[in-house]
Amino acid sequence: MKEQYECMVCGKLITDDEGVTTLNGLWVCDNDSCRTLDEDNEATEKEIRITDKKSYLLCNADDSEFYIPDALHIERNDELMLVDSDEQASIEAERDGVSLIYGMDGVPDRVYVDTDDNRNIITNALAEYPEYYNVHLVESRGL
Ligand SMILES: [Zn+2]
Repeated sequence: MKEQYECMVCGKLITDDEGVTTLNGLWVCDNDSCRTLDEDNEATEKEIRITDKKSYLLCNADDSEFYIPDALHIERNDELMLVDSDEQASIEAERDGVSLIYGMDGVPDRVYVDTDDNRNIITNALAEYPEYYNVHLVESRGL
């Protein structure tokens, strides 16, 4: 499994291959929209676009009873505690334009990020780990 870290400029989750550490020690996307390169090929971050901290995080679970392994989902940012629950965090993520899955068999509404990749990951994971199927009906989120 590949770990992902948030780009400090655009906020996207990127893997080791996709990012670079700048001279100032910030982790950013290794492309022209998030960093410039000097003559020595050293990276400098562009203007940081994440100005305010978010109430939610986009997460990949690796060892969770509730969240499907490797599937990107919304959780409350527990460091900031700006909202009361993971549900509220999901609502705020949607307000920011994050698209979340609704009406998919076996998973709760408004938890997982809606991309083709993520849907494939979920479908495969539910086949491989049936214990995650409808796990939200028995486990309470955010406790
Ligand atoms: Zn970026």
